[in-house]
Amino acid sequence: MTVVTRFAPSPTGLLHVGGVRTALFSWLYARRMGGKFILRVEDTDRERSTEEAVRVILDGMDWLGLAADEGPYYQTRRFDRYKEVLAGMLAAGTAYHCYCTKQELDALREQQIARKEKPRYTGICRERREPRPGVSPVIRFRNPIEGAVVVHDLVHGDVTFQNTELDDLIIARSDGTPTYNFCVVVDDMDMGVTHVIRGDDHLNNTPRQMNMLQALGTAPPVYAHVPMILGPDGAKLSKRHGAVSVLQYEEEGFLPDALLNYLVRLGWSHGDQEVFTRQEMIAAFDIHDVNKAASAFNPEKLLWLNQQHLMRAEPAAVVPYLRAQLRRIGCESSDQALLEGVIVAQRERAKTLKEMAHNSRFFFVDRIDIDPKAAAKHLTADGRAALTQVRARLAALPAWDAPSIHSALNALAEAAGTGLGKIAQPLRVAVTGTAVSPPIDQTLALLGRERALARLDAVLAVS
Ligand code: GLU
Repeated sequence: MTVVTRFAPSPTGLLHVGGVRTALFSWLYARRMGGKFILRVEDTDRERSTEEAVRVILDGMDWLGLAADEGPYYQTRRFDRYKEVLAGMLAAGTAYHCYCTKQELDALREQQIARKEKPRYTGICRERREPRPGVSPVIRFRNPIEGAVVVHDLVHGDVTFQNTELDDLIIARSDGTPTYNFCVVVDDMDMGVTHVIRGDDHLNNTPRQMNMLQALGTAPPVYAHVPMILGPDGAKLSKRHGAVSVLQYEEEGFLPDALLNYLVRLGWSHGDQEVFTRQEMIAAFDIHDVNKAASAFNPEKLLWLNQQHLMRAEPAAVVPYLRAQLRRIGCESSDQALLEGVIVAQRERAKTLKEMAHNSRFFFVDRIDIDPKAAAKHLTADGRAALTQVRARLAALPAWDAPSIHSALNALAEAAGTGLGKIAQPLRVAVTGTAVSPPIDQTLALLGRERALARLDAVLAVS
């Protein structure tokens, strides 16, 4: 049997890490099993759905590299199909028209509350044969009245719901539009979904969905309801905790693989391995191993993992992301060797690509500004005197590479009887504008002879 999973976000809020994690689990499981992953946008709630939210879903999935094998499907484009299934259910008697008015239902509800009963629809219209003039009916699902539904959940184990607890759900409103739980059922059936992996806030919908699938003659899929991600205060992660659009992580300079690695480890483990490449995740992930305890979001750990991924990735694979960050601060470069060199030189001291781009600006601009504090400290008369010698020595180097630069600077320090720092710091300030940079020999090698010497000249000219 081919495994078919789906990610089915509602575009009513901007996709954030909670949704991304369910998407990831669904995607990973499909990849692991050689199956199919479907993207389905559940946009039937037209009032609350926004185009911006749809865009974040599509762009976010794209940035994350969670490509769908099918879709995106949009529920709003499937209304004809839902109507067809509704008509079939009415004909088969597994659904019926309900003519109860809002006032009648409100009165029923009040009586039930007064009697301390759980408010529920009692099936008044179940056996009605005749329409009621002047009332546009809703359509209800005829839920079984006896027995129980057992959800064999891969994360929660068996969860039993009594049918007496489930009343006859409205599956189409009086204007004919289908409701949420019904659309999910039709879609999962039509799309041949074998494994429904979603947040455990949907667990209570599942017995109703299973009953409807059964009424439609379809075997239910396997369910895995994964725990929510919590904020540091133990409440479900929300906007309040800064649960922002997934695209914000792109902007902040995270690698998609680092974010995915972070999210896969929330509620799932594989020995004590922390850092996973995408391929390793696919090879090791099993939805059966996700545990049911909710986990809290830890931004520090995400930063740590991001740096781990920066350090381990092929520099060439990081280049497009660094370029995108550089563009945000007004720097363009298509010099592949320089970009890769900068990544290797900077990745030990940057946790994000945003930080890396910021620290590396001096490599990509024509003119640098020199930090006045660093200048006051290092571009002193002594510093400048040292720079004059450095300039002459460097200009005469036959080869411009880190080892040659390194030995030239060492020779100068030795001849002057000083530490390398006395030379390296003024040099660093002169060519980078600050007192912090990767090792000076690497920095100069990457900058190139012409630009390095021009920057020295600019500093020496104003003395
Ligand atoms: N559209 C639902 C949501 O965004 C998910 C439904 C499902 O996965 O079955 O929460």
